[in-house]
Amino acid sequence: MSFSSDVKDEITRLETGAPCCMLAELVAVMGASGTVSLLGGGRMGVYVETEHAPTARRLLLLLRAAFGVQPALRATRRVQLGGRNSYRLSLAGDEAMRVLTACGVLHRDAEGRFFIRPNIPKQALAKKCCRKAFLRGAFMAGGSISNPEKEYHLEFVLADERFASLLCGVLMKFRLHVKKVRRKGAIVVYLKEAEHIVTLLNLLGAYGAQCDLENIRIHKDIRNNVNRVVNCDSANLGKTIDAAGRQVMAIERIARQMGLARLPEPLREIAQARLEHQEASLQELGALLQPPVGKSGVNHRLRRLVAIADALSKQKGDMP
Ligand SMILES: [Zn+2]
Repeated sequence: MSFSSDVKDEITRLETGAPCCMLAELVAVMGASGTVSLLGGGRMGVYVETEHAPTARRLLLLLRAAFGVQPALRATRRVQLGGRNSYRLSLAGDEAMRVLTACGVLHRDAEGRFFIRPNIPKQALAKKCCRKAFLRGAFMAGGSISNPEKEYHLEFVLADERFASLLCGVLMKFRLHVKKVRRKGAIVVYLKEAEHIVTLLNLLGAYGAQCDLENIRIHKDIRNNVNRVVNCDSANLGKTIDAAGRQVMAIERIARQMGLARLPEPLREIAQARLEHQEASLQELGALLQPPVGKSGVNHRLRRLVAIADALSKQKGDMP
């Protein structure tokens, strides 16, 4: 099964929610994939097609609960698409007009003539619960998501430019970064950032898929961090030289202000070694001593030298 159908399976199993949310979900479905047709005798019809059986089931449920209508359902096997099933739900006549009007697709002008123009009724987006239901409907009708192991990509493929802009507006209200592009006569609204896709899955109520994506992301990050550590080894060399430079400055100050001869023997010894080997690592410096000293011992002695130099600079009241 694809990641997309996992998400759809999950969101179509959610409770249908309050009447306000049911309407918002249907508004999105009708706007994203409702096709209006003219039937014989001046009658109007509308249908929605989906290849995802649970989506068809949920739409039947929503239309019945919100409008008390019972759409006709027809399943066809599409031979040219590898034998996938397709489900078409259709309504005709008054029922179609009632649903289309409530969903903001069908309008009447001043002379009472009907015209079709996808819009979103204000009350459908008034509350956050409804905005989430709206996104759910849009994803059911036109959404898909790539396998996050391969890439982070979630998109809505829409037929109508105007509805695409309205959907972008809703997504942006949730502070999601969306982009819009035209592809083969359709409008594609998509998200590319993992963080934003995670947020959207949460808004859709696809918590299982959200969790899966976050786990995949953590594993990817760990892999990237390992690479970063490897790349950082050369940068660490620069850091060693920086620390060594500070140590040399400290030792020179001590030599200037009090003389290295006045240092205790272990410190005098390491100070000398550092002055003579400015680019040596701590291990290398330790190996130069008689008897050799380990890395932490060398580090400890150098820190004491830096502390002495700091004290001297304060005593003298000048710049370090
Ligand atoms: Zn609501």
